[in-house]
Amino acid sequence: MLGIRGETHHHGNRRPIAALECNNHSRPLGRTSFPDSSLSMVDKFDAVVLGAGAAGLMCAIEAGKRGRRVAVLERASRAGKKILISGGGRCNFTNIHCRPENFHSTNPHFAKSALARYEPADFIALVEKHHIAYHEKTLGQLFCDRSAEDILEMLETECRAAGVQIILNSDIHEIRRADGFVVCTPSDEFHAPVLVVATGGLSIPKIGATPLGYDVARQFGLQIRATRPALVPLVLGAKDRTQYCDLAGVSAEVKASVGDSSFREKMLITHRGLSGPAILQISTYWRENSSIRIDLAPGRDVTLAIRKAKDRNMATARTALQGILPKRFATRWLDAHAPQAWTNRALQDLENEFHEWVVEPVGTEGYDKAEVTAGGVDTEELSGKTMESRRVPGLFFIGEVVDVTGHLGGFNFQWAWASGAAAGRAI
Ligand SMILES: Cc1cc2nc3c(=O)[nH]c(=O)nc-3n(C[C@H](O)[C@H](O)[C@H](O)COP(=O)(O)OP(=O)(O)OC[C@H]3O[C@@H](n4cnc5c(N)ncnc54)[C@H](O)[C@@H]3O)c2cc1C
Repeated sequence: MLGIRGETHHHGNRRPIAALECNNHSRPLGRTSFPDSSLSMVDKFDAVVLGAGAAGLMCAIEAGKRGRRVAVLERASRAGKKILISGGGRCNFTNIHCRPENFHSTNPHFAKSALARYEPADFIALVEKHHIAYHEKTLGQLFCDRSAEDILEMLETECRAAGVQIILNSDIHEIRRADGFVVCTPSDEFHAPVLVVATGGLSIPKIGATPLGYDVARQFGLQIRATRPALVPLVLGAKDRTQYCDLAGVSAEVKASVGDSSFREKMLITHRGLSGPAILQISTYWRENSSIRIDLAPGRDVTLAIRKAKDRNMATARTALQGILPKRFATRWLDAHAPQAWTNRALQDLENEFHEWVVEPVGTEGYDKAEVTAGGVDTEELSGKTMESRRVPGLFFIGEVVDVTGHLGGFNFQWAWASGAAAGRAI
């Protein structure tokens, strides 16, 4: 149970901020990544970073390089677990076509500044400095040739070079603000004038996601935009499930849309609904009790062949649709959308429906399957240049905990690097 107190409630019997209360520093502090480093040498940090994920590590590196003494507190037994499972184990670490439009946020302009000051080329330069082999898979997505471990090792090496202390197995149970910030674990207190929250989102609780970042934001009175799973498969209602889901595994290139946002990529039918890149992308924009539109034949005329045929009937229609969609899916879809007549008008309706199949998902597969968490700390609360809280000087939020969500394809890591660097250069 986390006991976090705001500045109005801090206990007067605490030692002054300057004196770091590091109990029992002769024993190892969890399993640190850097066993040769000794915390007992340090009585005070310039910054404490919560979370040794993508954003936290990048922030620590940038701050450490500038001579700041940085402690990174990580709950898990190793840093960067999500980096290791990312991109199917190969980490899609950036996207060379990164633009502000690749990010969803209540304020679409917020991410621009940080993204402009730490670009994909900056991260690529780091990757090349460490001789990590990589390749472009598709649509500008860069992946490691070998393993995501290369990226994590690179970040750990950079941390070591910058003198960053990573303290693993940190069970943070109290945070308070006095003259600076105090972060308490059962055995230790970490004092610093700067606290950087980089605890990520709620997706994949199995590997250690927690709501700590949102709790800290609330503790200090910052607004939070409602969180929801994103880049996540969608679940269909019972009728559509019966109609389509035994075709699980079938895929097609489609254009999926919500409002003005569209993604032309692959869609995959699953046992409970729809997935594949087009659906994962659009899931970020979808809200409960609303629909998505799916163009099953982007840019193609579907009914031309039927209109031209000698006989206009279900057999000709089936053949026409099967030339566009996988056969079983085409048949199933046509059964559910059989034309009322074979007039040009009815065929035009069929054409329109094929390009705008309206699907009403009943939900998502939730945080267990979501690649990211949309929503989070309201960008109005933060400086876009530094990620520092406008209300609470010295308090920073970076990475996924902020209300900035990247599209699929390496953009979420690019946001983690860019926002981490922005904070790291400011502290
Ligand atoms: C399966 C999967 C694959 C993905 N693949 C890609 C990809 O290929 N490309 C891409 O761009 N994005 C990918 N993402 C998204 C990407 O991993 C995240 O957006 C990114 O890691 C966010 O960085 P972060 O530092 O904000 O959070 P994280 O990397 O999640 O780091 C947060 C850290 O905080 C720690 N923490 C949490 N709670 C506490 C606490 N209470 N106390 C202390 N520490 C705590 C966590 O253990 C974690 O180490 C993927 C996500 C998933 C789930």
